[in-house]
This record gives sequence, C-alpha cells and structure tokens, in this order.
Amino acid sequence: MGIVVQKYGGSSVATAEHIKAVAERVEKAHEGGLDLVVVVSAMGKTTDRLLALAGEVAKDPSPREIDQLLSTGERQSVALLAMALHDRGVEATSLSGPQAGMRITGRHGSGVISEIQTERMRQLLREGHVVIVAGFQGMNALGDVITLGRGGSDTTAVALAASLHADRCEIYTDVDGIYTADPRIVPAARRIPMISPAEIAEMAWRGAKVMHPRAVELGALYSVEIHVRSSFDEGPGTVIREGKDLEHLETRETLAGIVHDLDVSRVALTGIKTGPGTLSRVFAPLAQAGISVDVIVESAPKEGAADVAFTVRRADFAEARRLTGKVASSLGGQVEGEENLGKISVVGTGMLNRPGYAARMFDALGRAGIPIRMVSTSEIQVTCVIPAERVEEAVRRLHEDFELEERDV
Ligand code: ASP
Ligand code: MG
Repeated sequence: MGIVVQKYGGSSVATAEHIKAVAERVEKAHEGGLDLVVVVSAMGKTTDRLLALAGEVAKDPSPREIDQLLSTGERQSVALLAMALHDRGVEATSLSGPQAGMRITGRHGSGVISEIQTERMRQLLREGHVVIVAGFQGMNALGDVITLGRGGSDTTAVALAASLHADRCEIYTDVDGIYTADPRIVPAARRIPMISPAEIAEMAWRGAKVMHPRAVELGALYSVEIHVRSSFDEGPGTVIREGKDLEHLETRETLAGIVHDLDVSRVALTGIKTGPGTLSRVFAPLAQAGISVDVIVESAPKEGAADVAFTVRRADFAEARRLTGKVASSLGGQVEGEENLGKISVVGTGMLNRPGYAARMFDALGRAGIPIRMVSTSEIQVTCVIPAERVEEAVRRLHEDFELEERDV
C-alpha cells in the first residue's frame, strides 16, 4: 500500500479541539488503507512565544539553546496528536526529529537535511502504526538538535515524502489552496487547481505565503507530488505536479498568478566609474555581510560612468546602503536609496514565447499611473519594483487586466 505524508501547520493544531479534529482526519485516511506519516508544527504561535521567552531571560541567547527550546514546540504537538489518535483506538507513535532519523548539517537555526534514516518509521508502518514526526528539526553529528529555520516543517514533510517514496505529500493549512492572487486583496482571485513545480517555486520565492519556498524547491527536485489543502474543509485544494496530462496544449493559460512582496528596498549607486570587476566590488561586501540581493539593474556607461541599482529586504537596507556607500565614493559616485518599495510579479510558464506579457503589464501599471522603479524578467516571470503603497492597487489592476478571475477552473 502506498505511503502518504500529511503535514499540519501551526494553525491546524492550535488548540486541543484542533488536534482532535486532525486526529479524526488522520483516522479516516488510515482507515482508507493508507500508510501514513504525519508531520506537525508547533501549536499556534508557540514558536513565537518560546522565542520571546528566550529574549526575556537573556540578551543574546545561544543558538544551540534556542534550538533546544524551539524543538520542544513540535514535540508537544506530536505527543498530543498521538494521544488523540490512541483515544480513537488508532495505533500511532510520535517521534521527535532525531528519533525519526532526520540527520541535519549546518548551523543552529538554519540546518539542512542531509539524510533520513527511515528504518524506524518503516518498521512502525509495517506494524500498522500511524507515524507522527515533529517538523522543523533533526540531529547533527554531535547528537544535538538542529532546527531548519522558521516555517521548516513544510521542508520536513516534503523531504520525508521524497525519501520514503511516498505517493504524495499533503500540506494542510488554513487556506484551501493556492490562488491567482492574495484573496485578501483581490476578492475575485481563483483557486488554482493544478500548477507546475517551477511556477509554484517562483510564486513562493516571490511572495506567495502558502508554502515555504525551500519545501517547494525540494519537491520539484525529487518530483514529489504536493497537495495543498485546507484542514478545515474537504475541498480539492491545489495539486503541484508536472502537467504532462494537461489538456489544451499551447492554448493553455500560461499565466498562473500574481504575487507580491512588500519587503523591498532599493539601493542605487550613481555615477560610478565602471570597468571589469566593478560589480564584484559592489556586491562582494554585501555577500560577505550575508545580505541577499534580488533585482539588479546596471545602466549603460556614459563617459565611463554608470549607475547600478539593486533591491534588498528592508531589514538589510541601512547596512546595504552603508556598505555600498563606501564603494560608491571610492569609485567617484554617490549612493541613494528608497526604503518603502514593493514587488509585483506575474508568474507563468512559457512567457518567453509570449512577449506580450511584459508589455501588457507595463501598460496596465502605466494607465493606473503607478511608477515602475525597476524591472526583472525570466522565462517564467516578469517583476516590477514599485512604491509599496501602490502594490495592492497594482495587484488588483493586473488581476483584472490579465482576466484571471474569468479563468475556467
Ligand atoms: N514551528 C516552526 C515555526 O513556527 C516551524 C513551522 O511551523 O514550520 O517556524
Ligand atoms: Mg508555523
């Protein structure tokens, strides 16, 4: 019988009542004959609460002890879910990340999964148990608990599905799937019934909040079929998989959706002397400081001087400006910046074959009088950097302009 991995996020296990409801759902799937591995997150806002607590006892708590502390959140949920299942007469065993054989390398708070030793889980499945695994954690070579970083339970679930060769990974959350735009901003947004791994990876990295981007990428890498569903109703949700059996061929709608991100600042170096190696002088100090840079635009040099602009997260704005300010003055230029920006992206496969998308996007934003600060394109997306306060309006305009609410689903 096939293995299915189910993952329930923090909002799905927020209270004892929620946990009992999850147990009911798990029992049904188990009765249906599935071999089930269930990954759960910490209850509700537990992780935030534990972090706040750490901050109350120490100014600078050590990463190792933070991991010791945070990993307990998920361990509470797995034990409680196992008890709720026992109460219904279902055989179930809870495992912490280390007990489940999750081997992790890397630093505390940002571990990466290197291997999963699945024997214990497989043995329990053979004995007919539901296996419940604590998300977001594993063990390093020293035997210490390492966490995967915020939102890491999605990654645990997808990694388990990959290494157990599961039929699919079901992600249960508080929304009933992935939408053509954020439904809180665009009430007419539609649920996307099926989407390719490349498209959803792009949407996740560019601001869609439903699944952790890392988990989406892992799923794409190992061809894990992922179903995103609501834990509160029975809807079909969104299926993430390669669309080989899609109908419509070339007439298929290429645009999957519109995503936005309000955490964007822009730094620009103007009038800097350029030549070979200039960009490396600008970006090396940022890389050293661990600042990730997104959209980069360089103007054509005029009389040996050019402008280079790039975006960073708001939290990195001041530092990025300071670091590049030094470089700019050593190159005879200046630095300027804009802190409150946002990004809006239209995402879909086959954009290169349809050059009209970018033009249509610029036209819609232009007609709305929304200034575009920067643009970046690839074969799967077009992104415009615009003022933060115009982002919501831009999302609505583009959703309407690309007729996404009329899509036949
Ligand atoms: N509990 C962890 C967090 O809140 C991991 C997760 O929920 O995926 O970040
Ligand atoms: Mg969570």
